[in-house]
Amino acid sequence: MFPNVSQKKNIYLDYAAATPVDPLVKKVMEPFLSDGFGNPSSLYKKGREARMAVEDARKKIADIIGARPGEIIFTAGGTESCNLAIFGVSKNLRTDKNYHPHIITSAIEHHAVLNPAKALKEEGYGLDILDVNRDGEVNINDIEKMIRPETSLVSIMYANNEIGTIEPIAEIGKLLKRINTERERSGLTRISFHTDACQAAGFLDIDVNRLSVDLMSVNGSKIYGPKQTGFLFVRNGINLKPIIYGGGQERDLRSGTENVAGIVGLAKALELSQAIIEPESNRIRRLVDFLISKLLKVPGVTLNGPSRNRLPNNINVTIKGVEGEALMLYLDSYGVEVSTGSACATGSSDASHVLLAIGRSQTAAKSSIRLSLGRDTSKAELDYVIKILIPVINQLRKTSNQL
Ligand SMILES: *Cc1c(COP(=O)(O)O)cnc(C)c1O
Repeated sequence: MFPNVSQKKNIYLDYAAATPVDPLVKKVMEPFLSDGFGNPSSLYKKGREARMAVEDARKKIADIIGARPGEIIFTAGGTESCNLAIFGVSKNLRTDKNYHPHIITSAIEHHAVLNPAKALKEEGYGLDILDVNRDGEVNINDIEKMIRPETSLVSIMYANNEIGTIEPIAEIGKLLKRINTERERSGLTRISFHTDACQAAGFLDIDVNRLSVDLMSVNGSKIYGPKQTGFLFVRNGINLKPIIYGGGQERDLRSGTENVAGIVGLAKALELSQAIIEPESNRIRRLVDFLISKLLKVPGVTLNGPSRNRLPNNINVTIKGVEGEALMLYLDSYGVEVSTGSACATGSSDASHVLLAIGRSQTAAKSSIRLSLGRDTSKAELDYVIKILIPVINQLRKTSNQL
């Protein structure tokens, strides 16, 4: 029997897909959605005020990540930042058609990285995709072995959106720094290092110098900021070719009137998230550990991703004999919102490329769900989830056995 609940709740456990806009973020955005609507490029007062808001936000973000304001390029989200990094570096180097810059990335990247890299491959660029281990970690020695004279870009995500793996970005950064020093002497192209930090910005240190990254993508929508906001950090001296042409805003790298309210909201969201990293990570990690321990007590349930060194808010489990999509829909009918793999692949019934990359079978990958916790998640919510989840799993197993 499916569980009977007297009062249907609404429990959101998909913070890795989208976060609500923090009330303080909304508050700082509001003036720029009403009276402060000026175009930052206009020279009269309304324009100057908008410009000042954009530049304040840029400075705030730069300070948080250890960069200079001129190294922050505002974009319309994580996907655009990753596209600008990958196309920008590669296309800038292809000065003659016989030279094909080479890109190295990992098998578990978000499609915002994988698909631009694959598009470049179709245009004749070199591309190598690193395997990961069973926890989803890349191996630094593998990166070193893949490097060729034409290698111009390494793009490795900071934290994985599906299974929560945290990659050794600072160590990769150090390796590339050493290799670049040698390459400089022999006249080879410098290798730029990009990290997709969209899932990391809410929980991890994103200081670009401690990480030794040249490019870093962050978005607002995963850190309680508005959707379609984000930035790309571009270290001074790294040259990019734009992907959007027009009036020359954002140092010619991202033309188009700035999303002033969005930019102001993004800066506030990053400031708030980074300020509470420690207490919030600890609180969420305790909740996650509690839920994981309950889930792993159910026979046939296994954890995907590392048991340590993972994003504090991520749970991804394979539930043997249960279709992930069916489970997700049943949970939805009880008001519990979870995800099967990544929201970004919604609509496709393909098994998650991340779960396949860590060695799960097609069947296992399709029997998996992701629960990602956030600021509003409470112990009481998780108690309700457990009360629903376990009987639903048992019932779904019974039904599929009868088929
Ligand atoms: C969400 C996400 C993106 C895409 O960001 P958008 O703002 O939705 O374009 C890229 N990479 C990772 C790791 C993400 O989680």
